[in-house]
Amino acid sequence: MQLSLNPGSYTLVFQSTGPAFGLATLLDNVSLPSQVLDFYVYIPSQFANETPDGDLSFCSDDLIRCQVITTVPAGYSVIWMIDPSDTSPSSETYFVASPNSGVGSSFDFNLASLIGWPNYAPTEAGRHYEPRPLLGFTVTATLVDGAGNIVGNPRAKTIQQSDLGQLRQEYVDFPVTGGVPDVSDFTGAHPELNFGDYPNWGLVTGWAVNAAAGVVADAGGGVPPITTSVSSCYRNPVHHANVYLLEVHKPVKWGSQHLYGAAVDFRVSDFNADGKDHKDYNLLKRFADNYGKVVPEGVVNHVHVQQK
Ligand SMILES: [Zn+2]
Repeated sequence: MQLSLNPGSYTLVFQSTGPAFGLATLLDNVSLPSQVLDFYVYIPSQFANETPDGDLSFCSDDLIRCQVITTVPAGYSVIWMIDPSDTSPSSETYFVASPNSGVGSSFDFNLASLIGWPNYAPTEAGRHYEPRPLLGFTVTATLVDGAGNIVGNPRAKTIQQSDLGQLRQEYVDFPVTGGVPDVSDFTGAHPELNFGDYPNWGLVTGWAVNAAAGVVADAGGGVPPITTSVSSCYRNPVHHANVYLLEVHKPVKWGSQHLYGAAVDFRVSDFNADGKDHKDYNLLKRFADNYGKVVPEGVVNHVHVQQK
């Protein structure tokens, strides 16, 4: 009996040279499980990789890369296919990857042809602003030999947008003017300054951390002392838009520094005990002036200061 390993097809073959053995027949053409093709999916510009669960912090603004991490034998190649998880062309999470197929040890694509979002009109009484539902896709990698024959089993992975990816997608889907922040810009630190919908992720600038503490301390140490607190800082686009829709009743300020964690609102109270009015606003404003640019927002219930 002779045992041979064919490197082309990774097939274990028994060749019986003597009397026939039942074992040889049973083991004929058994694929070696150790030769499974493997790859990972990441965003090169963001240094962000898929998690073991298949979550990735991508948005439709990103170039996404699939990279083989097993050795591709000489003369062999890998064929890639990208399929959206949502296969209904009219759906808000359907897309056609561009390109949606290719050949090579690595493969880059982006998410083209997403329909616009929000694809509805938000109203105070009806549907409010919402984030686009999670995007997802399946990557299928197939190893082929020089003659184009499929070798082994294709490997498929389903990748889903993480919560941070969904948050970044808001900056793509809504007409914000400051661009799409990087994965590394977001932090779970300073949750007391995160007034958005994603408790684990916010944009909190060092300026905001300093101004928030400074204005509260300075006002408390003033003559006479006044007590204030932070009523808002970071807001994600959807949360911000709903504040304008449901509370401010004015068109959304898509250029707001709150979207980037570079603005802080401080509560105004009836500091001088004659009713809350512009005098109270001005008592607090003079402290905020020392930290940035105070922008009147047409109300006296808070002082808005932003990074200069
Ligand atoms: Zn504000």
